[in-house]
Amino acid sequence: KLGKSNILLEKKENGGGRKDEDKVDLAEQSLLNKLIRRSLVRNRNQVEVLQRDPTSPLYSVKTFEELRLKPELLRGVYNMGFNRPSRIQENALPMMLAQPPQNLIAQSQSGTGKTAAFSLAMLSHVNPANKWTQCLCIAPTYELALQIGQVIEQMGKFCPEVKLAYAIRGNRIERGKKLQEQIVIGTPGTVLDWCTKYKLIDPKKITMFVLDEADVMIATQGHRDQSIRIHRQLTNDCQMLLFSATFEDSVWRFAEQVVPDPNIIRLKREEETLDTIKQFYVLCKEKEDKFTALCNLYGSLTIAQAMIFCHTRKMAAWLCAHLIKEGHQVALLSGEMTVEQRASVIERFRNGKEKVLVTTNVCSRGIDVEQVSLVVNFDLPVDMDGNADNETYLHRIGRTGRFGRRGFAVNMVDSKHSMDIINQIEMHFNRRITKLDTSNLDEME
Ligand code: ADP
Repeated sequence: KLGKSNILLEKKENGGGRKDEDKVDLAEQSLLNKLIRRSLVRNRNQVEVLQRDPTSPLYSVKTFEELRLKPELLRGVYNMGFNRPSRIQENALPMMLAQPPQNLIAQSQSGTGKTAAFSLAMLSHVNPANKWTQCLCIAPTYELALQIGQVIEQMGKFCPEVKLAYAIRGNRIERGKKLQEQIVIGTPGTVLDWCTKYKLIDPKKITMFVLDEADVMIATQGHRDQSIRIHRQLTNDCQMLLFSATFEDSVWRFAEQVVPDPNIIRLKREEETLDTIKQFYVLCKEKEDKFTALCNLYGSLTIAQAMIFCHTRKMAAWLCAHLIKEGHQVALLSGEMTVEQRASVIERFRNGKEKVLVTTNVCSRGIDVEQVSLVVNFDLPVDMDGNADNETYLHRIGRTGRFGRRGFAVNMVDSKHSMDIINQIEMHFNRRITKLDTSNLDEME
């Protein structure tokens, strides 16, 4: 059972004074992403590199061979099915492995290969003959630390003499006995205890420090402070590496505190667009009418896969139950589910076991909608003031990449207010949203 962390960020989607039950838990979101991700995220943007010393040559690699890794480590990399370095790995790996050591701040969206990159760097960095902790890696939660550990264990499969320890709650080790594991990965609180209180790790002997998910980390004040306290124990020679999926000012300020004289690598997220999406709206009277319209759509379309968005958990549950009663095979993704349950629903949907997924906003983040050809906004996305939430709209139905497949979006309109929202969205994106008569679906051809 996964513990709830206290990193809660309220999402602005409480239209009409209603309180949405769903909250975004950044650490949970990140874990969900890791659980459902099986391959790299496509991103054709250019990697931006800012070198600490702009006069030094910029190294980038196109193959793992060029890194001159220990053969057993290279074997581990290939054994994971990696053929060549990902976009950010091309630049990040040579920087992290360079001699003398260089500090790095790297930012790119989740799924672009950051974890694999620093796992490789740690495995390559350690001297297995030395039986003390040399690499220290901190992550925001127990579960995220375990996920990283699994990557290290898998990649280091053929390096049996490199050992890994988890500094996470519940993992008790005798006080004062120095750890022999070369790599320690854990959460800030326990790592700090292991360094200072229990003296299991000598922070002066740490030569590589990795801070993962900096944005999630600093969302919790306690973690932020503990990270800085760990950092203070380290020597000036220790190589500092910091990773983040996003980079607001607060993350920058924190990163600059933890990583002196950094090289900086950034890969901007690919823009989402509505260019390949045909957008419609359907005029309805109320909830039941919206339901009928939805059922009409089902009958007339050979849908590959569809996602239906509702405003609240309650509405999603109601809709799901009614669709099932009509004989449709539908899955529900809802906020009260555990992360594992959510991951398994998404997995089934991806494998086509269910053709239709009913969900609320918050739950759907991190789901790639590539195989989804129809998105239905059963409720339109609105912000706290009841205005159109354009960003969420784009996120629900937009596609990334110039070769994004065609798709359809159908918006259910059940009031003058929701018609206004459609107009706002039309204006914002400067794209027509056409009226659709669900009893005559020729227009969708
Ligand atoms: P991030 O830490 O940025 O979220 P990960 O390192 O977890 O990204 O990588 C995302 C997914 O891509 C994982 O399933 C990982 O195994 C895979 N992956 C990472 N690097 C490569 C690579 N060079 N080639 C193929 N797959 C990779």
